Amino acid sequence: MRLRRAARIILIGAPGVGKGTQSERLLRRFPQLSAISSGDLLRHNVKHRTPLGIKVESTIKSGGLVSDDLMLRLISNELHQRGWIFPAHPDGHVMTLASAAIGATTEPGSSGSGGSPATMDAETAAFLSSPAHVHGHAYGPPRVNEDPSASFLLDGFPRTAAQADRLDEIVPINLAVSIRTPLEVIIERISGRWVHEPSGRVYNTSYNPPRVPGRDDVTGEPLVRRADDSEEVYRARWERFRETSEPLLEHYARKGVLWEVEGMSSDEITPKLVREFERRFIE
Ligand code: ATP
Ligand code: MG
Repeated sequence: MRLRRAARIILIGAPGVGKGTQSERLLRRFPQLSAISSGDLLRHNVKHRTPLGIKVESTIKSGGLVSDDLMLRLISNELHQRGWIFPAHPDGHVMTLASAAIGATTEPGSSGSGGSPATMDAETAAFLSSPAHVHGHAYGPPRVNEDPSASFLLDGFPRTAAQADRLDEIVPINLAVSIRTPLEVIIERISGRWVHEPSGRVYNTSYNPPRVPGRDDVTGEPLVRRADDSEEVYRARWERFRETSEPLLEHYARKGVLWEVEGMSSDEITPKLVREFERRFIE
């Protein structure tokens, strides 16, 4: 199966709606796709105590949103790193600074949310938290890699209309998937959620259990509960989603790229998503 054009997809949905699960399934089915999960990237930084991680830890713990500025730098850096966008100028600041720092652990164009996110050192973190030189705009907006192999899926970013506006300046999204599941169903599901932290793989004790309880299917490593899956923090995350999702959906509806999919379970949603992806992107 070949891609007709570069797919640039974002997933929008309430916390726990199963964005990570859908992302993983799409990647498995379409190996040409790669994914960035903003939550996984942030958690990776928190876990490894990078300056960026330390900066965002309390926000994540309380179910708040990390600042748009920081998120944008983090994601645009990752887009550069994977070769999906290029700086307008070969000496663009983002490329020189960021690739020196992050490139050590991420191969440009490496695929899959399966690989762990880039490790960030102090230099990168300092760059990401400095106000200047956001995505190389000193030289104008970056160029977009139009090759179908530069297809990607963003899970968890953009999350606000402001983030979407700024992402548009870097790379145009051609499919925004809004995943909808009733809140009661999601809350029930969150209580059984276990994750494999290094890869971001998600399991659920009732819907999608690991083959060996408490262990990742692929690596056999232990699964953990996410710190922000407690009922209280979940409520705060839901509240943030409720506030920000409507303008975000409107943003993509106006662009004509919004597609909504509903279901009570991930298993119900996946085939619909796969069909739509094939219809839009497969030759
Ligand atoms: P799920 O992964 O179950 O769909 P979620 O969307 O709430 O749930 P993540 O996407 O993993 O979870 O994000 C976890 C936390 O990371 C968020 O609560 C928020 O604090 C921070 N975060 C992630 N993406 C963004 C973003 N685009 N803007 C601001 N904060 C973000
Ligand atoms: Mg997620």
